[in-house]
Amino acid sequence: MAQHFLLSAAARTLSLKAIYKAGEDKAYETFCRLRWAETQGEPVCPRCGSLDHYKITTRRRFKCAACSHQFSVTSGTIFASRKMAFVDLLAAICIITNGAKGISALQLARDLDCQHKTAFVLAHKIREAMASETVGFNLEGEVEVDGAYFGGHIRPENRKEDRKDRRLAQHQTGKRRVVVALRQRMGRTLTAVFHGEDEGVAMVRDRVMPGAVVYADEASHWDALHGWYSAKRINHSVAFMDEGACTNQAESYFSRLRRMVGGQHHKVSAQHLHQYAAHAAWLEDHRRMDNGALCHRALGLALAHKVSRQWSGYWQR
Ligand SMILES: [Zn+2]
Repeated sequence: MAQHFLLSAAARTLSLKAIYKAGEDKAYETFCRLRWAETQGEPVCPRCGSLDHYKITTRRRFKCAACSHQFSVTSGTIFASRKMAFVDLLAAICIITNGAKGISALQLARDLDCQHKTAFVLAHKIREAMASETVGFNLEGEVEVDGAYFGGHIRPENRKEDRKDRRLAQHQTGKRRVVVALRQRMGRTLTAVFHGEDEGVAMVRDRVMPGAVVYADEASHWDALHGWYSAKRINHSVAFMDEGACTNQAESYFSRLRRMVGGQHHKVSAQHLHQYAAHAAWLEDHRRMDNGALCHRALGLALAHKVSRQWSGYWQR
């Protein structure tokens, strides 16, 4: 029997052992190479674009020869004002991308020996960078559409006579949200968080190109899709697949997200749910990449991503 790719040596191209053995200078070189990929790691002034610079080697900074602007490899990126060593940051990204169902901030903090707050913000910055990969991206061909609810769990009272009907709106917490996923077969997965699944209809119109074949389940709000696309429906109470009509790939995505929320984070707030959803989508879409490529891809995205408005100085506010 052929070996599964993820079990093969080809899937393991980067390890923590290798990162730490190579050390801080090598990690710094990796940052330079991925930040300035077009120039093979030679610094480019972020202000004027000039290649002429002086090196301030002691501080790993550069001074632009054209406009005198001082900058570093992380200036203007999501890692601006970093305090962690490059080798630790690289290790952190390796740990984050190695987790097929994500990683909790608590576990990351233990692995890196840093504060929980630091690990929490760092992981969220990486998620933001991962999410940036599909911004403005549209789907075509065959697209599966589905939604799944997360959060807002109400613990039943101990005694039966004290229990309320948790299905009623007045007994709910208002924290429940739906993740809508649009997954192109052999393509990317786009996600968004809404209060109700019906809000996903507008998202489909916005992100799926005309001419696409859209697959959805029997929920009535998806009926509107027939007006704009060749829509195929699958009634899950009858079958999960009927003449090629199914949302099985969207379901695979949700099973990863459920394992991430249930197995790593245990509880996610409605406010951050979209970032976990994007993280799971990124992992799902790149599941066949080796781990070194995954780690470098995430780092490349982070270095191409501007300072985070949400996460920069998060605990200083
Ligand atoms: Zn300059």
